[in-house]
Amino acid sequence: MKDSFGREIKYARISITDLCNLRCKYCMPEEGIRKKACSEILNIEDYVIIAKALVDLGIEKIRITGGEPLVRKGLLSLVRQIGAIEGLKNLAITTNGILLPKYGEELYKAGIKNVNISLDSLDPEKYKDITRGGNLSDVLAGIENSIELGFEKVKINVVLIQDFNDDEIEKFVRLTEKKPIDVRFIELMPFKGQHELALGKYLPGDVVLEKVPDLQAIDDEDSSSPARYYKLEGALGRVGLINPLSHKFCDRCNRLRITADGFILSCLHSRKEIDLKGSLDDPDKLKELILKSINEKPLSHNLEKGELMDRDMINIGG
Ligand code: SAM
Ligand code: SF4
Repeated sequence: MKDSFGREIKYARISITDLCNLRCKYCMPEEGIRKKACSEILNIEDYVIIAKALVDLGIEKIRITGGEPLVRKGLLSLVRQIGAIEGLKNLAITTNGILLPKYGEELYKAGIKNVNISLDSLDPEKYKDITRGGNLSDVLAGIENSIELGFEKVKINVVLIQDFNDDEIEKFVRLTEKKPIDVRFIELMPFKGQHELALGKYLPGDVVLEKVPDLQAIDDEDSSSPARYYKLEGALGRVGLINPLSHKFCDRCNRLRITADGFILSCLHSRKEIDLKGSLDDPDKLKELILKSINEKPLSHNLEKGELMDRDMINIGG
């Protein structure tokens, strides 16, 4: 499946809830978000129907995300069903890690191959502050547990936030010395609800290379990856930079996004979204809408020119 600019679309991210057990300051309002009525949000079977249509059309990798996917009832059943779809090569999940000690093993058995865990500070008080109440030891236990279980890849996602975690960059990088993990630094993006914080606290990803000059650039086997990868000499893991603002990667973007309420977006920052809910019992129509979204995938976002996203990250799933 190629889009109108010749990009091969192989990867879909499916958000399965807007709800979360944390309240990260750059992502969620303090009071949380309104819980949607059951009729607004898709049920587990609906996500499986969409996943099957996506794989039929050539999607090879699916990532389950949210909100926080581990709080969604029925998650394990969903993972088992999506993991069993013939033709799907990789099933991954992005989580804040808090519930990984509880569900990690079941997720591994159900077919998850890659786990991305979000962690913006290694200091318990700062972690509690940025997540508005999270417990750092829970996430660290989730990371250790994931490494021990033997997921193919365990990645830590760190959003770079000025005057918050710039003093911890080296400490994060050093985690890769002895652990077989990727630590990836992500530039803070300006979304509607939280954009004031995002605009004031943005740090370009290259600051990581300034703080840790002994990082050496390496090639990534996955040429569509948004991350540029680096390594410390002799380290077990890698360091990635995901720089959507300072080094746009739209030219190699291969992804689609499905929101928890059943819309398809072909770009994280596009205002064009197509409602799939009414077509779930008509496989041909469903595929037609997915193809329409791919055809309309924009060439690039314009965040660096001050454009903001209408939906918040929590509604799209990162
Ligand atoms: N709750 C899960 C988690 O935190 O990993 C999955 C959903 S979360 C929306 C997905 C990713 O988006 C997280 O790594 C989070 O740090 C990132 N994120 C949220 N808001 C962001 C923003 N404004 N800029 C950059 N990344 C953001
Ligand atoms: Fe929740 Fe993830 Fe957003 Fe933090 S980044 S509030 S953990 S959805």
